[in-house]
Amino acid sequence: MREYQKSVIVTKEEIATAVNGLAKQLNDKYKGKEVIAIGLLKGAFVFMADVIRQLDIDVQVEFLIVKSYKNGKTNGKPQIVLDLKKGITEKNIVIFEDIIDTGRTLAAVKEYLKYKGAKDVEIAALLTKPSRREVAVDIDYSLFTIPNEIVVGYGLDYNEYGRQFANIIALNDAGIEELKE
Ligand code: 5GP
Ligand code: MG
Repeated sequence: MREYQKSVIVTKEEIATAVNGLAKQLNDKYKGKEVIAIGLLKGAFVFMADVIRQLDIDVQVEFLIVKSYKNGKTNGKPQIVLDLKKGITEKNIVIFEDIIDTGRTLAAVKEYLKYKGAKDVEIAALLTKPSRREVAVDIDYSLFTIPNEIVVGYGLDYNEYGRQFANIIALNDAGIEELKE
């Protein structure tokens, strides 16, 4: 479905290198410790799967679904749609997020995990769009800073289009219009 591609934003080779680097940092930082990796579905599933397979620390996997987006626009109020299956009291958490845009999702999730009793909460973001930030968030690991485009691929979608692409691409105007729900 090439006709919806405006440009390639991050190639699969660039992603692989950055994912390697992140896994190394996590292996160093959490050596001898337990970590719970929490993936924000659906967008972060590919990213988290790639990172955790390179970890040689004690890691458990959980998921959260937080929703606030439709047609690429946020309603500003993230809601938890799928919750954690286990308690996280006194645990070290690394949140895996596909992209940080306004920052509202991450701010809400971080607050929620602290409220649930987590000891330490770190954030690993595949992409960040700083130009769109409305709420300040401390991103501990940020792989790529991108311009203000609607991007899909490597797990990210636009109304479910594009998750399976190996590269991260920007959608063109035709895509944004025709894939609207
Ligand atoms: P925030 O709360 O930071 O505004 O929103 C973060 C969420 O917005 C991400 O988890 C992602 O689901 C969605 N999002 C923001 N920008 C994009 C984009 O360019 N492409 C896709 N696929 N999702 C985006
Ligand atoms: Mg997301």
